[in-house]
Amino acid sequence: MEHKQTINFGAGPAKLPPSVLLQAQNELLNYSSTGISVLEMSHRSSDFNKIINKTESLLRELLNIPDNYKVLFLQGGGSGQFSSVPLNLIGLKEDRCADYLVTGTWSAKAAKEAEKYGKVNVVHPKLDSYTKIPDPSSWTLNPSASYVYYCSNETVHGVEYNFTPETNGVVLVSDMSSNFLSRPVDVSKFGLIFAGAQKNVGCAGVTVVIVREDLLGHALKECPIVLDYKVQAEMNSLYNTPPCFSIYIMTLVLEWIKNNGGSAAMEMLNKQKSSMIYDIINASNGFYVCPVDTACRSRMNVPFRVGKKEGNEALEKEFLDGASKRGMISLKGHRSVGGIRASLYNAVTLEDTKALADYMKEFLKEHQ
Ligand code: PLP
Repeated sequence: MEHKQTINFGAGPAKLPPSVLLQAQNELLNYSSTGISVLEMSHRSSDFNKIINKTESLLRELLNIPDNYKVLFLQGGGSGQFSSVPLNLIGLKEDRCADYLVTGTWSAKAAKEAEKYGKVNVVHPKLDSYTKIPDPSSWTLNPSASYVYYCSNETVHGVEYNFTPETNGVVLVSDMSSNFLSRPVDVSKFGLIFAGAQKNVGCAGVTVVIVREDLLGHALKECPIVLDYKVQAEMNSLYNTPPCFSIYIMTLVLEWIKNNGGSAAMEMLNKQKSSMIYDIINASNGFYVCPVDTACRSRMNVPFRVGKKEGNEALEKEFLDGASKRGMISLKGHRSVGGIRASLYNAVTLEDTKALADYMKEFLKEHQ
C-alpha cells in the first residue's frame, strides 16, 4: 500500500522528529550493545546512569543552566507540578501566600490547586476571556508572596508571553510545558521552571523541573516524598523508579535540537512557521479569525475560527475533513474553545507548515 505522509499538528503528545523515532526503533531491542532494551533496563544500572546524566548535561548546555540549579526528571506531568510547586514553595515565607497570573486554562488549574496549600492571589483583574495578557501596570504583586507563578504559553488558548514578568525579587515560577526549548530563555531569572516533555522535548511520562538550589528544603510537612524536590535532587531523580524510556527519548530529542542549532535556531524556525499561518489569518478579511491579541499570539499553538468570529461549525468540520484527507491531523481546537488549533512545535517542519498554509489559502479561495 502506498504510504501517505501524515502531518501531526496535535497539541500533545505531539510530533517527534522522524530521525528520533528511527533511532529509538533501531535501539529498541539492543541498546548500545547492552543486549537489552532501555525498556527493561534497571534504573540503577550504569548504562541508565549514563543516559540520565547525558539528558541532564544536554539540557544544561542547551539552556545554559547555571550551576546553582538542579535539574530533575519527574513523573506526574505538568498537572503534578500544579501540586508540587505549592507543596514545595508556598512555605518559603511565613504568610504561605502566592501570586498567580491566570491567562488561560492551565494557569487557572494551577491556581486552583495551589489554593489547597495556602493563600492564592490573582494579581490582575479577572479576564472575561483568555485572549490577552493584562498589562503589567495593572498587576498588584504582593511583596510577601512566596512566589509569582505564570504559564509562559497557554496551550489551549494560544496565549504566549513574549516577556519575562518582573517580580521585584520575589521567586518566579513558570510552566513552560508547551514552549520549552522553542526559544532561548534566561534561566537565572527564574526560581523554578517546569515542563512536561510531550510537546517539544519528547514523549509523555517525564516532566523536567529546573529549580534553584536555595529553594530546596522548604516543603510543607504534608508534601508526599516523591514530590519533594530536595529528596529527588539528592537522589539524582532516582528516589523511586523514574520514567526511564521517556528520559531516553528526551536525550534523543535534545541531541536533535542541538544538531539543529539549539534554542536560537528553533526560535527562528518557530517565528517563521507561526508567521506563515498568522499572515494568512490576518489577510483573510475575517474568514479566519484568531481571537488572541496580536502582542501575545503563541508561536506554538495557533487557534482560529473559520467563517466568522464565533466560528461556523459546518465550515470548520469541512475544513477538518479536508485537512484529514490531505493527511493533516489533530487540527481540532480544544473541546473547551472549539474551532481549529494548529500546534507548531519544534518537530513540525517548515514544509509541514507550508502544507497547512497552502490548504488554508485553497479553502479560503473556495469559500469566500
Ligand atoms: N501545562 C500546560 C501548559 C499544558 O499544555 C499541559 C497539558 O497540555 C499541562 C500543563 C498538563 O500537563 P499533563 O497533561 O502532563 O499533566
